[in-house]
Formats: sequence, structure tokens, C-alpha cells
Amino acid sequence: QLSGKTAVVTGSNSGIGLGIARAMAGAGADVVLNSYTDSEEDHQLAKELGEEFGVTARYIKADLSKGEEARGLIEQAGACDILVNNAGIQQVSPIEEFPVEKWDAIIAIMLSSVFHTTAVALPMMRKAGWGRVINISSAHGLRASPYKGAYVAAKHGVVGFTKVTALETAEEPITANAICPGYVLTPLVEAQIPDTMKQYGMDRETAIKEVILERQPSKEFATLEQLGGSAVFLCSDHAAQITGTTLSMDGGWTAR
Ligand code: NAD
Repeated sequence: QLSGKTAVVTGSNSGIGLGIARAMAGAGADVVLNSYTDSEEDHQLAKELGEEFGVTARYIKADLSKGEEARGLIEQAGACDILVNNAGIQQVSPIEEFPVEKWDAIIAIMLSSVFHTTAVALPMMRKAGWGRVINISSAHGLRASPYKGAYVAAKHGVVGFTKVTALETAEEPITANAICPGYVLTPLVEAQIPDTMKQYGMDRETAIKEVILERQPSKEFATLEQLGGSAVFLCSDHAAQITGTTLSMDGGWTAR
């Protein structure tokens, strides 16, 4: 279905990024994995993905907190038919105590990098005559929670930038959309469980159902396979007129 296309997925040595990269490879796309780490395991991961799905898979290091490296990632990839902006981090602090360097890092990695990668990828998509931009926002791109100021600001920003990207490409065979997951069980969320258990004096299961999934009416995590499947759907011909919008995968969170 996607053979001959190259998908660049930012922040894809773990979690949702890796899940989406796997789904893209499963649909026949060549994939570029990315993170800021450049470890042996990162390159091994790409090698295994390529072998498992019979596609070309490469790992390219780029620290997306730096604009030039974000641009360099797409330049080094050489082709980018499908751009998935996924890299992200989290920080939970009240506004007046929010560490300034964390604010700057979150805005750089999760918002500015989306501008940089898109700016380099769009000319490539135009030349190729086809393109898909998929930005991983969040339910927090549509709703807020206290103590997640930078994350909520960045994710709302990504939704706005996705709409601009869609309008600037509206008459071309290029679409831009944001996927807005609720909670997905990845290392990012896993890391929040012990703190939540401690803070509320709860066991793991109770902390998950009553605190973490409190706002997710389904009381279930979205899965990596579901995220990957939706990203592949957005690349399909059926989705050609879906542009500038958000696809919520949040078990009903934003229905409230
Ligand atoms: P994760 O921690 O498993 O993965 C984050 C990825 O980002 C990793 O590959 C990491 O290497 C990469 N990354 C972090 N800083 C980077 C940098 N400076 N340069 C390059 N890469 C960097 O987290 P995840 O849960 O898979 O999250 C992926 C995306 O999905 C994030 O944007 C997150 O906000 C979003 N999201 C996650 C959930 C969830 O419940 N897990 C919900 C909604 C949205």
C-alpha cells in the first residue's frame, strides 16, 4: 500500500513513534527512525525493523531541541513522503515553579521542531507530487490539565500549526492532520505511574483506573497498534480529503 514511500518518524526508538514506524513498515513504507541518543540499540532497532518487514529502515540521530538538527534530519533522510512529528517529553510543575529550561525544551522539541521538519519536508513532498504530514498532538492539544503548562501549550500549538499546514497545501495532493491520543501505555506514561501511586497511596491498578484514566471514559489505554493503524489510514486514498483536522483517540475524553 505504501511501498515506494519514505516515512520519517521523529522520536521513534520507543513508544508511539516506534509503533507508528512499525505500522508504516508493515504497510510497505521505507522508514527513518530517529531519536537524540544514537546508540547501538537504535541502529539495531532499524536493522530489525527492515528485516522483519522487508523494507529499507534507517536510524538518523537528531536532537530536535535544536532547529538545525530538526532540519538536518529531513535533509539527511533525502526523501520524506510521510512526515510523522512525534517526539515529545513531559514536565509536571505549577506555573510559578516550572523550570525555565524545561519550558524551553518542551516548546523546542514538541512545537518548534514541527515547524522545522515541515519546512524542509514540504518542498520534497511537492516535488514527489504526494505527501502526508501527521502530527502527534494529544487530548492535551484540545483540553487542559493543571501543572502541564508547557505540554498543553505545545500540543495546542501543534494543532494550530497543523491547520496552517493544511491550508497552505490545500490544493495539492498533500494532507496535514493531528492525531490526539488520550493515554497510551508507553514509557512516557509508565514513568508517571510510580509517582501517582505514591502521591495518592494507591496500588498500581487503582492508580491507573482512578487517577491516570480518570478523564478517559473508556477506562482503557489506546494501544500502539491502534495509533499505527490510524496513521496508516491517514496515508490512504480514503483519507485524501481529510486535512487540517484532529483525530481523537481518547476513549471519549474530549466528548465531555
Ligand atoms: P516516549 O517517551 O516513549 O517516546 C518519546 C520519543 O521522543 C522517544 O523516542 C525519544 O527518544 C524522543 N525524544 C525525546 N526528546 C527528543 C529530542 N530532544 N530529540 C529527538 N527525539 C526526542 O513517549 P510516547 O508516549 O511514545 O510519546 C510520543 C508522543 O506522543 C509525544 O509527543 C507525546 O506527547 C505524545 N502523546 C503520548 C501520549 C501517551 O499517553 N503516551 C498521549 C498523547 C500524546
